[in-house]
Amino acid sequence: MVVRSTARLLSAMVALCSSILLVSCVSLEFDRMAGTTFPPQQMVDGQSVTLETIYNLAAVKLDVQEDETGIQPLNIPDDACISDAELTTLENGHRHLSLFPTSVCPLQACNTYHLYGVVVDHHGEILDACVPETLQVLGKMWQGHTRSAFAIYYKASTIQSNGPEYLRTAAHEIGHAFNLHHSDGDGTSIMTQTDDLEGEPVFAFSDQSREHLENHPAQCKFPGAIGGAPFTWVIDDHAAWFHPDDELTVTTCE
Ligand SMILES: [Zn+2]
Ligand SMILES: [Zn+2]
Repeated sequence: MVVRSTARLLSAMVALCSSILLVSCVSLEFDRMAGTTFPPQQMVDGQSVTLETIYNLAAVKLDVQEDETGIQPLNIPDDACISDAELTTLENGHRHLSLFPTSVCPLQACNTYHLYGVVVDHHGEILDACVPETLQVLGKMWQGHTRSAFAIYYKASTIQSNGPEYLRTAAHEIGHAFNLHHSDGDGTSIMTQTDDLEGEPVFAFSDQSREHLENHPAQCKFPGAIGGAPFTWVIDDHAAWFHPDDELTVTTCE
């Protein structure tokens, strides 16, 4: 009897989780250095567009928690770059949310996952080189192994002067934390790189991106997932979208 009622209770909990599974929850702890701003909301066709609304349309409940706003910039020259190692030191000193999800239900799909973002008042490196005069990096998801943190480089003039591009950059870097790649873009959607745009950028994910966010295994998409797949490790549904620059590795994500 005990076994049977336990089984019944478990199946009831599974049913409950299955209904919650329609919406996956991710908390974003967002910090910024003094003198910077968070990405501004945009009005598009009379609708307010924010990081939350962009992710809601892809069945992800993103809870943006604006946290620290006065982190002091590093003592480096204006034309220098903050390195990935320095970003990690910054994250270690300011991140409150754990790397791992908080369990809400016995099923992992019901967990709340945790992502860290920081707006830094510096330029960023590209492939370990600092060349802001020739190539300004707007943002980067630099914790590729856990896909758990991203940075926005506020010294990039585009970030300061172009609100729509700033919001789109933040949504794009968060997309990398969800293990989305440039090949997931379709020419105008969020994951298309600025240089590769084939028309007016839109504040929405492509069908391919939404397929990933809605239907692919938790370990393959959620930031900081327990046993999560590193950046570029994807299930073979992505193979058809393969783009040589993305160097995807096909895995089961189990
Ligand atoms: Zn990118
Ligand atoms: Zn996927």
